[in-house]
Amino acid sequence: MDRAKGFRTTNEQQQELFSERACRSVARRRFLLYGACAAGCAAAVGGSYWWRHRSGGAQSHSWTESFKKAFIQTFSADSADVFKADAPKGELWEAWQRRGWVREARHYLKLGKNIHCKLCPNECRLAPEDRGHCRNRVNKEGILYTLAYGNACSFNNDPVEKKPLYHFLPGTKTFSFAISGCGFRCLNCQNWDISQRKPEESKDPRGESLRLRPETLRRLTAEDIDRLSLFPEDVVELTEYLGSPSISYTYSEPTVWYEYMYDTAQLARQRGLKNIWVTCGYIQEKPLRELAKVIDAANVDLKSFSEEIYRTLNTGKLEPVLRCLKILKEEGVWFEVTNLVVPTYTDDLQMIRRMCQWMVNELGPDWPLHFSRFRPAHKLTNLPPTPASVLIEARQIARESGLHYVYIGNVHEVDDAGITYCPQCKKELIYREGFFVIRNELKGGKCPSCGRKIAGVWA
Ligand code: SF4
Ligand SMILES: [Zn+2]
Repeated sequence: MDRAKGFRTTNEQQQELFSERACRSVARRRFLLYGACAAGCAAAVGGSYWWRHRSGGAQSHSWTESFKKAFIQTFSADSADVFKADAPKGELWEAWQRRGWVREARHYLKLGKNIHCKLCPNECRLAPEDRGHCRNRVNKEGILYTLAYGNACSFNNDPVEKKPLYHFLPGTKTFSFAISGCGFRCLNCQNWDISQRKPEESKDPRGESLRLRPETLRRLTAEDIDRLSLFPEDVVELTEYLGSPSISYTYSEPTVWYEYMYDTAQLARQRGLKNIWVTCGYIQEKPLRELAKVIDAANVDLKSFSEEIYRTLNTGKLEPVLRCLKILKEEGVWFEVTNLVVPTYTDDLQMIRRMCQWMVNELGPDWPLHFSRFRPAHKLTNLPPTPASVLIEARQIARESGLHYVYIGNVHEVDDAGITYCPQCKKELIYREGFFVIRNELKGGKCPSCGRKIAGVWA
């Protein structure tokens, strides 16, 4: 579990200043009604209708084909609840723009002044002044904007093992950062104080602007962190200064600050740095394939193997996450999977067996699986931590299912929780304690005993 540490802002002043923007969710039916009326009007007035896909650019469809496609896409899929009339206004909106923390979003459709966001499977429909389910994207006069750009609220130079990634540049550090926002509402979220906040609740655009640079890193105050900017070029410069070979997009859900992540990753790639996406895997295919071109590794939370549990525990769906894993494999991105075992929710061993069998059959046996211990958090403080015995049983099931690399995380009492064994001769290859590599005996990515190639990115 990649728990946010390092610096983080809470910004109560900001909440007071802009408290009139109380969030209000509405049922999707009401918005569909508005949207349907808008669509009807658009059809009636003929030429007033237009649509375009913001990410694709090309507009090769005829008017009627385009209308049909947009109508079907807009009204056929489920939409998550959104924050009605909650976009920042007046002084706050202007301050956010002055800071450069507003950018036009990518991956959305327009229907008149209404918007259909196509970034994640939440499929938000936004009327003007609405804010998306993730809290980061707002419709201003028919244009979708992200409020999460260049304004990290949390950053730290972490061991890569903390993501967790055990088969990707082991023993190295990765510069990790986040801005708030998430498309899920997990009852057990361990980073809820970032993920379940709006960018305006974690950053303060007032006062002098300040960009984080290597020379300012050691003199920062808490107030500085509230207002500082960390644009893609700053992230890359800092990572180089710290000597870390990679950047991690992590702590909250980086998919919902896609533009910030993508632009940083693209620049980092040009400068020879690697990119790590720590995610719940809740993203549409088109932005995912685009992102896959600039990332090198991912840790994907597979939260359970049940649509019902995804719905009740996480307010999401399982199927898009499974699709995400398959696409990462197709696109050649190294990934590892984390499964948080939450007592009474996701600790059904039969379900865990089905999940492992799916991984072996659909992905293959070489993708590492990390079982992670739940600790009471957010709305599930009534539950106990996962017993170590359950995690050990889950690991045994995963091994029996055929997975080659299975780990247990967030535990101290299991001695071999973080050891990589050769799947062929069973030699102990990498020995870890917590997030630290104590011994690494791999030679050129191979077992020194039997010569078997060990899956991963080793240099
Ligand atoms: S990225 Fe945000 S606005 Fe877009 S569909 Fe997902 S939750 Fe909604
Ligand atoms: Zn071996």
